[in-house]
Amino acid sequence: MKKIIVAIDGHSSCGKSTMAKSLARSVGYVYVDTGAMYRAVTLFAMRRGLFAADGSVDAAALEALMPEVKVDFVLDPESGLPLVRLGGEIVEREIRSLEVSSHVSPVAALPFVRTAMTHAQQAMGREKGLVMDGRDIGTVVFPNAELKIFVTASAEVRAQRRFDELQAKGMPADYADILRNVQERDYIDSHREVAPLRQADDALLLDNSHLTRDEQQAWLLERFKEKTAEA
Ligand code: C5P
Repeated sequence: MKKIIVAIDGHSSCGKSTMAKSLARSVGYVYVDTGAMYRAVTLFAMRRGLFAADGSVDAAALEALMPEVKVDFVLDPESGLPLVRLGGEIVEREIRSLEVSSHVSPVAALPFVRTAMTHAQQAMGREKGLVMDGRDIGTVVFPNAELKIFVTASAEVRAQRRFDELQAKGMPADYADILRNVQERDYIDSHREVAPLRQADDALLLDNSHLTRDEQQAWLLERFKEKTAEA
C-alpha cells in the first residue's frame, strides 16, 4: 500500500499528539511531535538566559546561537516512541513544564526558528509513512499531505486535560494558570505573521470536546483507510 503523510494541526492541548501517536502505532508509521521541537528551542533559550522578565525573548542573541541548537529525536526502546533531544540530551520531561509552555509561543513566532524547524521536519517526511502534529503542518510544512486533520476543543476542556496530565505525572498544576496559558497560546499562535495556526482549506475539522479517545481513534483510522485506499 502506498505510504502517505498525515498532518494533524490544531489548538494547544486538544489531544493532537495522543491521536497522532496512536494512529502511527496502529498503522506502523513514524510519529513526529513538532511542538516538542519548538519547546526544545525554548528550553535552550531559557537555559541561556535569553528571556527578559516580561517574557520577551532576545531574538538577536537566539539567532546568533541557532547553529548550536541541535534538536532531534531518538526512539525510546521501551515504548517505540520518539523522544526529543537537545544537543544529545533527552529533554522530554523538561519541555512539558508550564514554564516552557508559557515561553514557547514567542519563540515559535520567530521566522528564523520556523525556517530551521520547517526544514528539519520536511527532511523527516521524505520517505512518507509519517504522522506529524503541530500548527502549520498541513498549511506550510506539508501542503500536499494526503490526509490533513484540524483538531479543536473548547479552551476549558483543553485546560482540564492538561491539568489532569500534569497531575498524573506529579508535576505542579494550577487550573486557572493553565487555562490562561492555553488562551494566550491560542491567541499568539493564530495571530503571528509567519505560519499562523489556521485550518488548511482541504483539512477535515474534528472538534473532540465531547468525544472519547476511542471514538476519536476510530474516526481517524477510518479517514486514514479512505485516503490510503485512494493513494
Ligand atoms: O503542540 P505543543 O503545545 O507542544 O506546541 C508548543 C508550542 O509550539 C505551540 O503553542 C506553538 O506556539 C508552537 N508550535 C508551532 N508550530 C508547530 C508546533 C508547535 O508554532 N508546528
